[in-house]
Amino acid sequence: STQIHLVSRPEGWPTPENFQTVRVTLPELAPGQVRVANAFVSVDPYMRGRMNEGRSYVAPYALGATITGGAVGRVIESAADGVDVGAVVLHQHGWSDVVQDDAATFQVIPELPGVPLSLRLHILGMTGLTAYVGLTRIASLQPGETVFVSGAAGAVGSAVGQLARLLGASRVIGSAGSAAKVALLHEKYGFDAAFNYHDGEVRELLAQAAPDGIDVYFDNVGGDHLTAALDAFNDGGRAALCGAISTYNADGPVPGPDNMSNIVTRGLTLRGFTLGNHLDLAGEFQQRMAGWFSEGRIAYDETIVDGIDNTVEAFLAMMRGANVGKMLVRVG
Ligand code: NDP
Repeated sequence: STQIHLVSRPEGWPTPENFQTVRVTLPELAPGQVRVANAFVSVDPYMRGRMNEGRSYVAPYALGATITGGAVGRVIESAADGVDVGAVVLHQHGWSDVVQDDAATFQVIPELPGVPLSLRLHILGMTGLTAYVGLTRIASLQPGETVFVSGAAGAVGSAVGQLARLLGASRVIGSAGSAAKVALLHEKYGFDAAFNYHDGEVRELLAQAAPDGIDVYFDNVGGDHLTAALDAFNDGGRAALCGAISTYNADGPVPGPDNMSNIVTRGLTLRGFTLGNHLDLAGEFQQRMAGWFSEGRIAYDETIVDGIDNTVEAFLAMMRGANVGKMLVRVG
């Protein structure tokens, strides 16, 4: 098995020296265990936080151990009753090509005809659910409202734009980091307005894109994007604070919004969330999403990097914005 370990904690941007590729010979299966060959391994922004020491909502990664996280694969050997060779499983064992552990640490999922396994790691899985939770429970999106989402061409953001529309938003605005991504938001994802945040001050770009203000902001970026949203909010606006990727690799303090008083004067609500506390919505999401998906109303993109040895590179490329939609590593 090839495993990617964290061997030192990055300060600022991670470098290849923070990681090590380790090849191990796996022992024979113990009773109750299964061995899984991964098909796709996920690289996600939250993993950057887990590379640090200190308090967060998930424990820091241990040094000298495999980086854990979402992956989907197939059982290739089984010593567990009820889990057959060939079964498709979702799990959190992370950055390796082959993994084995107790069967209970793997979730057997049905194989849906015509649905690529990779989608279970994004639009039909974690990132799609994050978009759904943020819009419905956290931001209480109402029909007829205007929604702004940052990181709009990424995995969560592209789901937010589409779900906002399906949930009744009348105007959907997105920001992303290149002209090509902005074109995609217009042409493939049905955004009403979109801008490249490199083209000027985000405050001004958002004001142009949202002349009548915004009601809901889905924040993936933080920093200047959150500041801009606080300026653009209509009275009673709500922000779902999902992430702040513009700050994850900072090696010093990051400036906060200078317009926090708008929260008071406009009666705004800013509410942070992490998906793990809202998994009770998973069933509802899966049901509604399966319906929209089978009706052909859901588009998606994925950016695939081949080979488990290239996982670190894929992670860093995602943090730099090289991905459209979900960044994934294809194994084997
Ligand atoms: P994405 O697919 O959106 O990939 C990350 C993207 O972030 C890049 O493609 C890049 O796109 C953008 N980005 C990087 N640096 C900056 C910057 N300085 N300013 C603006 N954009 C930047 O990742 P995900 O969809 O997986 O995650 C999106 C956000 O959602 C993250 O903040 C993540 O932490 C959060 N998240 C939170 C969860 C929760 O439970 N709260 C669960 C899942 C995700 P571009 O080219 O546009 O810059």
